Amino acid sequence: MLKLEQQRVTVVGLGKSGLAAVQLLLEKGARVRAVDEKAAAAATLPAGQVEFRLQSEERFEDCDLIVLSPGVPTNLPAINAARDRGVKIIGEVELAAPYLLGPVIGITGSNGKTTTTALIGHILAASGIAAQVGGNIGTPPTAMVATSRKDQWNVLELSSYQLETIDTFRAKVGVCMNVTPDHLDRHGSFENYADAKGRLFDALMPDGLAVLNADDVTCVGYAARTKAHDVWFSSAHRRADGLCVSGEAILMNGEPLMPIVDVPLRGVHNLENVMAAAAAAHFAGASYEAIAAAVRSFQGVEHRLEFVRRLNGVDYFNDSKATNVDATLKAIDAFAGGLWIILGGKDKGSSYTPLIEPLQKTAHAALLIGAAAEKIAKELQGAVSLIQCGTIEEAVQAAHSKAAPGDTVLLAPACASFDQFTSYEHRGRRFKSLVMELREQ
Ligand code: ADP
Repeated sequence: MLKLEQQRVTVVGLGKSGLAAVQLLLEKGARVRAVDEKAAAAATLPAGQVEFRLQSEERFEDCDLIVLSPGVPTNLPAINAARDRGVKIIGEVELAAPYLLGPVIGITGSNGKTTTTALIGHILAASGIAAQVGGNIGTPPTAMVATSRKDQWNVLELSSYQLETIDTFRAKVGVCMNVTPDHLDRHGSFENYADAKGRLFDALMPDGLAVLNADDVTCVGYAARTKAHDVWFSSAHRRADGLCVSGEAILMNGEPLMPIVDVPLRGVHNLENVMAAAAAAHFAGASYEAIAAAVRSFQGVEHRLEFVRRLNGVDYFNDSKATNVDATLKAIDAFAGGLWIILGGKDKGSSYTPLIEPLQKTAHAALLIGAAAEKIAKELQGAVSLIQCGTIEEAVQAAHSKAAPGDTVLLAPACASFDQFTSYEHRGRRFKSLVMELREQ
């Protein structure tokens, strides 16, 4: 096990994960230094116990181990130099790994991680199976150590950033929802990004389970990277084993699990989330009946295709978490037509042209906001009706004045939020409050 006592450890990035890492390191007797881009981060550290340095000034000398927060790129020049000098570099998940008691269910994928993670937590809780939920969804793994128990599952949402830096971390169950282009600005290429997610399957225990999307070629490739048993789910093809959608029902190992109409979440992508969650929860001991009952009572997660209100016969949906093109495609697919869709924000390097065909079929117009508006307009021009709005305030006003009864106004922007908001949550909350302020006509 990694020795931490009296070791000189530098934590880079003082967000939630970095601060939790600092805490665990102090408990384990390490000599901790913390580094952040912003001087203000120093104030978040436990007083008098941790040396603080600005990232721009830090050379990572005099340290035995570096712990990177998920938000910090692994190839910064100063980090590369430290790696070349032989300093061990790990992420926060890897730091937690030796201390986290109990088996792990890890959930990754480009889209659907949070929903599936929350759903697994909900099914296990409803089934009376002990579990704690964390990772990218909320509580960092290092902060779950103290409450972990040998006989309790750890349900962890794991992003590509978190998986990039694992080493000895092991999971009993690994779930991958899908792999579509995202975060290419950080990973450099789709191959690097897909490879980072695939590390979860390298890390599965041989007596564990790999839950994979049979309709996703990258997921299919992950099967070769694991010694664990694989179970497949498909929303597109009927299967004799694993999970699939067949006619009006979800089948599990050829038996009906539940009718599709009983799934309270919209869209085929949410059936995939239900199937993946069912496979993982069943492995952990949940019965078919308990799974079906828990799915029926699942409320969904805020900012994921969340219904806001109906006004003058127009429905408003908040999918602010649709921060990439694939999530937006899934959101569009969940509606038959009559869409006024708000697109734009901070561009992440992917192409928006895959939106053309579905928008031609279902949308009256796309309302463009934020820094990516120009790029989106260039790519969709001539194919889709576009309205330049600049801000979300303008977009909601424009949609409100144009939408007719039976239409849907959908915020599913296909972009990150950081050009105009502090987070996708901030953007989603702003959208909801603007929609709630609209007056009946
Ligand atoms: P993640 O944690 O991977 O970002 P979320 O559950 O937060 O996943 O959903 C992110 C976005 O993707 C939301 O816009 C949501 O509506 C959409 N989404 C959810 N599940 C899926 C899925 N299985 N496939 C594609 N898109 C999905």
